[in-house]
Amino acid sequence: MGYDAIVIGSGIGGSVAAAVLAREGMRTLLLEKNNRTGGVCSYYEKRGFRVDIGTHMFSRGARGPLARLTRRVGGPRIEFLQTRDLARVVGFGGTLDVPRDKWRLPAFAASAIRQLELSPRDVRDAARFLHDVVRFDEARLPEVDRLTMWDFVTGYTENPRLVGLFGFLLGLYFILPLDQVSAGEGIWCFRRMVREGGLSYPRGGAFAVPSSFLSAARARGAEVLTKKRVTRIETHHGAVRAVVCSDGSSYEAPAVVSTTSLKDLVERLVGPDAFPPDYATRVRGLGGSMVAVQAKVALRRPLVKAGALVGANAAGLSLADVGLSDLDAMYDHVRSGRLAPITPIYAPVPTNFDPALAPGGAQLITACAVAPTTDIALEDSPKRWTENLLVALRALIPGFDDELLWVDTFTTQAVENWTGKVHAPAVSTGQTPDQVGNRRPPVHTPVRGLYAAGCGAGGRGVGTELAAASGEEVADRIVQDLVNGILSRR
Ligand SMILES: Cc1cc2nc3c(=O)[nH]c(=O)nc-3n(C[C@H](O)[C@H](O)[C@H](O)COP(=O)(O)OP(=O)(O)OC[C@H]3O[C@@H](n4cnc5c(N)ncnc54)[C@H](O)[C@@H]3O)c2cc1C
Repeated sequence: MGYDAIVIGSGIGGSVAAAVLAREGMRTLLLEKNNRTGGVCSYYEKRGFRVDIGTHMFSRGARGPLARLTRRVGGPRIEFLQTRDLARVVGFGGTLDVPRDKWRLPAFAASAIRQLELSPRDVRDAARFLHDVVRFDEARLPEVDRLTMWDFVTGYTENPRLVGLFGFLLGLYFILPLDQVSAGEGIWCFRRMVREGGLSYPRGGAFAVPSSFLSAARARGAEVLTKKRVTRIETHHGAVRAVVCSDGSSYEAPAVVSTTSLKDLVERLVGPDAFPPDYATRVRGLGGSMVAVQAKVALRRPLVKAGALVGANAAGLSLADVGLSDLDAMYDHVRSGRLAPITPIYAPVPTNFDPALAPGGAQLITACAVAPTTDIALEDSPKRWTENLLVALRALIPGFDDELLWVDTFTTQAVENWTGKVHAPAVSTGQTPDQVGNRRPPVHTPVRGLYAAGCGAGGRGVGTELAAASGEEVADRIVQDLVNGILSRR
């Protein structure tokens, strides 16, 4: 059978692209190297638990692009769920529960002011920062895309506890230190999350998201093949021709979308010589985000009430003592492959949203701690990085050892093996000032019929939503290229 489009990868980027292409009447083939679809939003099963491969919450949930796209492609509805406390911020001797309901915000603010020991001036600065971000005029985003979030936040306050809190939360979105995150991207993501109040997690686990798009794609005739590792994309006279898989099979289509990183696409799958030199040089210079070591923790009974635990374990450091230099040091350590004295933690609790993900009232926590990508030599062994994460969890979750059923840990190499993105960045084209807005690599490439999507090109937003936006963008671009005669169907 002939195809109009081939999509490589079944993560959120690839599954959205395939669903939209199929919805637009394109004969679509999706090739996935793993034995299970879903990319970093896939899952495994263990002793009655259904465990996410990655560590996810969805920043805009039912009000964001994922829900809108399921409607566009006619996929099964994704039921985004919220907990009463969206997150518990822990560490440095303080505890803050971030409420879902707006009416509880004054009590939250009072508790934050007390615990962070904020002066009236600090409170004014924080209020001004939050007000300006939430009301930011999006037409002015290009002005702040080139600033870092560090520059932006410190323009309001230099109180290290506030900078730390904002920096930590915004750094989480992008898995980058505050001094590398684009302020425009941070503002765009934060204001939408706050205005839309959508931070949530789907019934059935993170896999419910790509699964909905893949169902929609199949329902429109798309073919989805697993255990198909693409090893080469062939081009001819400046146009894409075919993709070749490790089992020797090959498939032809006028349009090929890759959701591996843009670097992998250009340097490994196609080869840089097929591109104009300035494009190949730009792609070679693209930087990814950091990544994380992970722990999947199964507890006999619930020990955490909020939707996620977010915070840091820092032996001997109290909230009142923490300084900007401590935060700097934390990221400097990670950047140079050393375990930092402060371990930042991000730990969604899937069973607090959907108890059916675990048997008999047990609790599943999917935790991670930021770690360098695999190209950075580790001073401490990968095992010490995962052990350090467990030390932090023990410190932050009282009763952890008493209730522990089992724990699985994952190094950064495991992430690389699963996603296929060389060096395992969580976001393969990181959202730094020179890689967002009009400087983000577009979804089309100089090779006719060759496109990139997922977290490597196009889109805007937090992780999964960035990948979804990019998947939609690429599919629309292909349809438009067909209409404009840039591509022709076989
Ligand atoms: C630890 C961690 C925590 C994160 N936390 C969040 C969060 O809380 N919220 C959020 O929104 N985002 C989060 N993200 C980011 C988010 O997961 C990604 O940005 C997004 O899911 C990427 O989607 P994708 O489609 O680009 O790639 P992926 O999901 O990685 O999918 C790529 C797919 O392509 C396949 N593939 C690769 N190479 C080939 C090949 N040669 N042949 C065939 N198939 C191939 C892979 O097997 C994979 O299935 C996190 C990421 C990580 C790693």
